[in-house]
Amino acid sequence: MQNEADSSPITVPARHGKAMRLRAGQALRIINTHGTQVVDCWAWNAYDLDEFMCMEATRVWNQRLCPIVGDSFVTSRRNAILTMVEDTSPGVHDTFMAACDLRRYELLGVKTYHRNCCDNMMEGMFSLGVTPPRRNLASFNIFMNIRVQNDGNTLHTLPTESKPGDSITLRAEMDCFVALSACPQDIVKIQGKNDNTPRDVAVQILSGNLPEMAVRGPWVPAAEA
Ligand SMILES: [Zn+2]
Repeated sequence: MQNEADSSPITVPARHGKAMRLRAGQALRIINTHGTQVVDCWAWNAYDLDEFMCMEATRVWNQRLCPIVGDSFVTSRRNAILTMVEDTSPGVHDTFMAACDLRRYELLGVKTYHRNCCDNMMEGMFSLGVTPPRRNLASFNIFMNIRVQNDGNTLHTLPTESKPGDSITLRAEMDCFVALSACPQDIVKIQGKNDNTPRDVAVQILSGNLPEMAVRGPWVPAAEA
């Protein structure tokens, strides 16, 4: 690949979203500018929007609740689409929780329109002239802090643990669209430690200087002796 400059960081304003197209081998760095913000993330095969990043298949592939550096995210057809090649945060992210949508805020008692991650995802994709075939609630929730309790079953929803400037970098394994939402949630306390206020984040498209990292294949059970 030619030496192509990395893009300058682009702001994703608090409560809003942005989508972009990546070529295989490029990467997206998501920067938690203030350290307090949860960012919802979706991805699609650029040539077939029926193939999309799938949290349930990703958990099977990695045999983990949430990917760590070196793990890949896979699609609804179980092909690698993104690989986490860097993470300068404490590594606390979530694959369990549904993205927020308008109905979620209605159920939380909001009586007027509330911005939400699903609408942000659609707006971001529309701005590229692309219409996703469906709303997928299963986003990768970057910097979101969901903890399984000691009973192995109960979940606790907690504020982010990241610091200002923490980032994760996701490398595209196929030409794809990626949509991000700086989550507008301001009722359930997921943003930051104290004030639960949605804030801006930044994204940067990287075209080189990435850590060498092969895609790991899917987990398979060890053969019996
Ligand atoms: Zn949200």
